[in-house]
Amino acid sequence: MDKIFDFIINMPNRLRLTLILLLITINYIAEFLVKRSVLKVYRRTESAEEAMHKLRIYNQYILAILQIVTIVPVQFLVVKYFMRYAKIGRIIFMILVPFVFLMIVNVGQLLIINKTYKRIRGTTESLFNQIRDIASTLLLILVPIGVIGTVSSFADGLDIKSEALEGIIAAATPITMMFLFNLTLPFLYPKLLKAVPLGDENLRELLDQLFAKAGMKRAQLYQWPTKAKKVANALVVGLIKPKVFISDYFLENAEPSQVEAIIAHEVGHLKHKHLLKRLLYIVAGLCELFIVGYLLEWYENHTGQEINLYLGIAILLVPFLLYISLGLLQYYRKQEKQADEFVLKIGVHPEVLISALLKLGRLNHMVPKLKKLDERFQTHPSMARRIEQIEKISGFKYELEL
Ligand SMILES: [Zn+2]
Repeated sequence: MDKIFDFIINMPNRLRLTLILLLITINYIAEFLVKRSVLKVYRRTESAEEAMHKLRIYNQYILAILQIVTIVPVQFLVVKYFMRYAKIGRIIFMILVPFVFLMIVNVGQLLIINKTYKRIRGTTESLFNQIRDIASTLLLILVPIGVIGTVSSFADGLDIKSEALEGIIAAATPITMMFLFNLTLPFLYPKLLKAVPLGDENLRELLDQLFAKAGMKRAQLYQWPTKAKKVANALVVGLIKPKVFISDYFLENAEPSQVEAIIAHEVGHLKHKHLLKRLLYIVAGLCELFIVGYLLEWYENHTGQEINLYLGIAILLVPFLLYISLGLLQYYRKQEKQADEFVLKIGVHPEVLISALLKLGRLNHMVPKLKKLDERFQTHPSMARRIEQIEKISGFKYELEL
């Protein structure tokens, strides 16, 4: 291990640069192959849904993983230039390097797939806006990590005598920062999405009634421009004063009753306090991580036996990673089901809800049905599964028009 590290530190700069370029190129080649395969599906089926389904599968299971896998060696290759700086340098390294690398990879991949994507989906979004979206998504992930890293490293610098107290501070810092970050989201989102208050007054009145029916204070309603990128969606952010966002592409293409059904679903998330519960789910995972880490250390100190490094890492990380990935996704899907149930409970007709979901799927060019294994890796159940659940709860049978 040390030998490899020495080699990386001392390798000639030309080799270093070549390796970095190679890692970037691997990502580009993968996107080329994806483009070819997606086009093939599109030509064979003439279905935008099938082509987009293929693209999502590749994006989620190959391209995203390839990016994560290639970023690790890139970090190692450039770490040399940051070693001389103190803490702040290291934190900049943790954010800036992934940001620059991921921008180069993602913008390049966008340029490769863009024409094909636009042709299949008929979108018209400008390249500039798409790049801006990539940058803001990356920053939204990397900046919180950097801020948590910075605050944690300052907490580390405090001279605390008690080991237990030190452990508690180490766990409490990221958790507190996560809550604080969540509190900033309602202010960040309108700017990020370029959202404006919902314009249609009749619709606003209709939607406001949903909050009254749910026995809740009404949330602010926004619309955000997505016609150029053809995104039909609604979402809710904010733990304390929540805001509900509806994409104008959906508003333009859906009946008011369908918009009502989709917003009732978001109200269901609020009524069940789903956002807070998601955060608590993650906090519980972090607490587990710190407690197991603490126990492992305690075991070593009290028995004098050293736990094998790899075994220790496995005990510490495997359950945590499963809990935070597949477990969290399963928890999300359970909440989606609950939110759909709430829509029916509040008096929306099952037929309206089902037609709204189908419209959402059609506008986004989604296939209604997913493979069972694929379904496990999604935040939302497939449309087919959601419709099945709605039919089961309501006893209503939807006549699918083919
Ligand atoms: Zn939902």
